[in-house]
Amino acid sequence: MSFPALWLSRNEEEKEQHLELLERDVSDLMEGDTIVKVAYSTLNYKDALALTGKAPVVRKWPMIPGIDFAGVVESCESDALKPGDEVVLNGWGCGEVHFGGYAGKARTPAKWLVKLPKNIDAKTAMEIGTAGYTAMLCVLALEEQGVRAGDGEVLVTGASGGVGGVSIALLSKLGYKIVASTGRMEESDYLKSLGADEVLDRNTLSEKGKPLAKERWAGVIDSVGSHTLANALAQTRYGGAVAACGLAQGMDLPASVAPFILRGVRLIGVDSVMASPELRAKAWSRLAKDLDMKKLASMTQTATLKDLESLAKNLLAGKVRGRVLVEVGA
Ligand code: NDP
Repeated sequence: MSFPALWLSRNEEEKEQHLELLERDVSDLMEGDTIVKVAYSTLNYKDALALTGKAPVVRKWPMIPGIDFAGVVESCESDALKPGDEVVLNGWGCGEVHFGGYAGKARTPAKWLVKLPKNIDAKTAMEIGTAGYTAMLCVLALEEQGVRAGDGEVLVTGASGGVGGVSIALLSKLGYKIVASTGRMEESDYLKSLGADEVLDRNTLSEKGKPLAKERWAGVIDSVGSHTLANALAQTRYGGAVAACGLAQGMDLPASVAPFILRGVRLIGVDSVMASPELRAKAWSRLAKDLDMKKLASMTQTATLKDLESLAKNLLAGKVRGRVLVEVGA
């Protein structure tokens, strides 16, 4: 039985990419011991880069994009999973070098798949998506560094985006005092409804600043990079920690060592793609416990595979709020 798949190909001479919705068959899929009937995927920042060709995310052509998916196991050659298991996949090179989630079926190694916790179904898993799972990894990183609710304000940058929104919802449930930085001050009410105590104009962080500034943050979750991350470091309190996961402003880090050597500030890198199976399982079980699903619903819009090309452009232009759930079967 065939299934729909977004198919991204490239004209090798002109390096122009071409996106079309085709029918594919299981025999077209890449290697792996497990076949999953994909129910949902999402549109993450990296997917938008791949779909628009704005960055070299895709490194094998042609590609089925989509860095994550959730669905039901159809068959598994090992004992790791059984037909009917609900699973989620984030990263591992899917949508980059291995066919990803924008197709009715996916074939991957079983060890890439995480069995979903009881109160997270496939739909909720993709409302959370890689953005939300990465937000959880950032919260876990701050916790590991000893940043506790009650220690002081935690800054969340890129607040109206996917990582930012889920970070705020998680930190709020855990009792942290949150300051949300955004370029969309008109979204202040939305950010407060997710749990932000204060909303800051991102312009106060995005320009070149001093190596050290007035100490303010007990912790930071940054999905923006560049001057914003440099300023966040310069404003972090003695012994505080900064979890860095993104580059929405830029990949550069025009900072000095001053916050590290004078204030003992810790900069923690967060990667979701190659995270260990143990860390993934921990993150998903914490999401099941610590994410307010009503807040998640308020930050999510729904799309189909046909909508993704134009939505990707809007996302990179900073015009998409929160999360995009993709109904793959629709
Ligand atoms: P979104 O597009 O949903 O959110 C990004 C947000 O960043 C925007 O909504 C906007 O928030 C802010 N932003 C955009 N452009 C700029 C700019 N020029 N200067 C300052 N802020 C800007 O993306 P995601 O939340 O899905 O991802 C955020 C980042 O995290 C991306 O760089 C992504 O690649 C990275 N990421 C990394 C992962 C990892 O494993 N390390 C996994 C997942 C994501 P606002 O309008 O509120 O200012």
